[in-house]
Amino acid sequence: MKILVINCGSSSLKFQLIDSETEQWLAKGLCERIGIDGSQIVYQKAGGDKETTVSPMPDHTEAIRLVLEALTNEKTGAIKELSEIDAVGHRVVHGGEKFASSTLITPEVIEAIKECNDLAPLHNPANLIGIDACQKLMPGVPMVAVFDTAFHQTMPPEAYMYGLPYSYYEKYKIRRYGFHGTSHSYVSKKLAEDLGKKPEDLKVIVCHLGNGASVSAVKYGKCVDTSMGLTPLQGLIMGTRSGDIDPAIIEFIAHKENKNIDEVMTILNKKSGVYGLSGDLSSDFRDLEDAYNKGDEKAKIAVKTFCYNVAKYIGAYTAAMNGVDAIAFTAGVGENAAFVRKLICEYLGFLGITIDDAANNTRGDDTVISTKDSKVTVMFIPTNEELAIARETLALI
Ligand code: AMP
Repeated sequence: MKILVINCGSSSLKFQLIDSETEQWLAKGLCERIGIDGSQIVYQKAGGDKETTVSPMPDHTEAIRLVLEALTNEKTGAIKELSEIDAVGHRVVHGGEKFASSTLITPEVIEAIKECNDLAPLHNPANLIGIDACQKLMPGVPMVAVFDTAFHQTMPPEAYMYGLPYSYYEKYKIRRYGFHGTSHSYVSKKLAEDLGKKPEDLKVIVCHLGNGASVSAVKYGKCVDTSMGLTPLQGLIMGTRSGDIDPAIIEFIAHKENKNIDEVMTILNKKSGVYGLSGDLSSDFRDLEDAYNKGDEKAKIAVKTFCYNVAKYIGAYTAAMNGVDAIAFTAGVGENAAFVRKLICEYLGFLGITIDDAANNTRGDDTVISTKDSKVTVMFIPTNEELAIARETLALI
């Protein structure tokens, strides 16, 4: 079967056409600047080069129309006709408490996703526009919603409740939800498979370290805690997000800098994290590593604070699960930044973890980076959210 995976942002749209038998992508790409001047589509067929076409995209329907046109293009298309697409899998950011798993999209499901819009005002409306546009252009093709939050719905109340008046949970559903669920689910299962074990037999910590970053504790195949919260702002220090801070800092900055709540929230989301800590040097760990090695003090503080923070979460989640068998690093930083993995693991000697430097200093497919006598197995595992969405979609149709 051929499954189209759509990940719709407010002004961008990522897509991948996946052959479910081989689990290989047939074509993939990205529409950028939807609704803004200078929109373009980047398209690549498997085995071919990337092509960039500048074309006006006033809305997501036009973007999806261009994606479908590229996929069926006579010369560079991956399919001849749209009827070859058997199903569409949509990434949906927030499923609230309504969705603990992926679901076939029906009019009732669309209404239920709309009810979660308050919880993700930037993301969910964009996801819904993508679903609507696909339904218009591909009527009758089954569509599935795969939620970023669903994998974390197995958390117990003591992990997801905040120390706030209970009425806020009742009235507004304020609680921890967690994100990157598709990645945490995929990587925790892949880790078990790599170790020749069943997920039900393992206590695993997954560190999804990308521009956005989160950690999850997966006990016997189920998520029992995760670092992101009601929104993706909580938890680890990230590329540009602050992660955990004293909530009173918001009021403090607002007074000192004469800013309103929205302006302070923009600082916490866009100007903080390792970017802010490094003195606005960069949110990219390649730049930070260069600066760190040249002795840049702020870059050192940014990297060390980030790594210390991840290590503290690993310690906390080891307590939450009463032990840990394996730790996996994934996403842009987790998969590529050997020095970050090394600095994090230096804090974990108390768990009997030792790292094999030669293995750690490699890149590529799933790799064990701990030594044979390490008490906990540590790996890096490339995440593949699109494939995970395609698998979920296939399972539901
Ligand atoms: P993601 O959000 O998963 O796409 O991750 C993007 C981030 O991964 C970038 O901002 C970089 O910080 C990091 N990254 C990507 N490639 C490398 C690399 N080769 N070395 C270190 N960090 C990397």
